[in-house]
Amino acid sequence: MSLSRRELIKKEIFDIAEYVPGKSIEEIASAYGLNPESIIKLGSNENPLGPSPKAVQALVDAAPGANIYPSADARELREALSKYTGFPVSNIVASGPGMDGLLDGLCRIIIEKGDEVIVPTPTFSYYELPARACGGKPVFIRRNPGFSVDPEKVLEAVSSRTKIIFLCSPNNPSGNLLPEADLRKIVENTHALVFVDEAYVEFADRNLAGLVREYDNLVVGRTFSKAFGLAGLRLGYGIMPEWLAKEYSRAATPFSVSLPALRAGLAALSDTDHLNKSINLAREGREYLKEKIPFTVYPSRANFVLVDVAPLKAKKVTESLLKKGIIVRSCDSFREAGDSLIRVTVGTPEQNEKVVRAFETVKNEV
Ligand SMILES: *Cc1c(COP(=O)(O)O)cnc(C)c1O
Repeated sequence: MSLSRRELIKKEIFDIAEYVPGKSIEEIASAYGLNPESIIKLGSNENPLGPSPKAVQALVDAAPGANIYPSADARELREALSKYTGFPVSNIVASGPGMDGLLDGLCRIIIEKGDEVIVPTPTFSYYELPARACGGKPVFIRRNPGFSVDPEKVLEAVSSRTKIIFLCSPNNPSGNLLPEADLRKIVENTHALVFVDEAYVEFADRNLAGLVREYDNLVVGRTFSKAFGLAGLRLGYGIMPEWLAKEYSRAATPFSVSLPALRAGLAALSDTDHLNKSINLAREGREYLKEKIPFTVYPSRANFVLVDVAPLKAKKVTESLLKKGIIVRSCDSFREAGDSLIRVTVGTPEQNEKVVRAFETVKNEV
């Protein structure tokens, strides 16, 4: 392509490192000559029980109405989320392309060239992407050993250009919660917006969303991708102060939640049986994995566990598991995660057993 064409693109875009998703079943089946049916996918924290059968029915029922636009602001879904979260509809925004879309939307209205965002690593790698696309500069600070965030360190990193501080609880990939007192300390001592990513909060025993009532610079992000098992539909939402929800809606893509996603989301919220089953499966499974995997496993409040295979290398161990048809996530693409961490999604009891056996075999091979 001619140089001049590339000059059409904003300079900031060239600084964005490619997002590395978990591997798909199709990729692994063809790379290792395996039967796709036999592959266990525990690399992307998806729900091993699948979506709620009610959500599946809602998708089928929505299909004939696909010629009609859904409501521009996903009103019905926000009303159901209002009941689910206890917040008024005016505090809730829904986002079509998942919580990732919410992060995009927020950066779009907040970040300008030269602004800064703070990201305590290792953590979910997407935050820096929309910030950079808007001309922002990520400022990375390291988490403590054990992956807690030092509030003092966060506050020291704040400058006059800081616009957003990205926190994650339970944190991906480590599974630990952010203590409420630490969040208060950060929110109370900064002019910046604090974003708390609660993608995995259903699997934990407490959440931080209630604090949005107290602070006008706090946003909580949520998703239907994990506990609700709807990752393929790309549905997320945010709980935020009313002033911010108003400005967000001004610049957000209208109709971002598709009609099928909206209907499936409503059905998923109504199926508390499926939700509770999913939560219990993850809670029991993570304890099992923590106890049985013959390496260091960090305690987790999410639907995955973080395994440290040192002195082995995560890449090597992940490869060995792939050959056995088990997809897990090597964390070497996560900033500051080193080269010996592997994230394993909690599966069904049968899948968990196979994972444990595979880790045992790998350990005995060296
Ligand atoms: C999966 C995940 C998301 C993305 O959620 P989507 O709604 O699927 O975009 C956000 N944050 C964290 C920490 C995640 O692990």
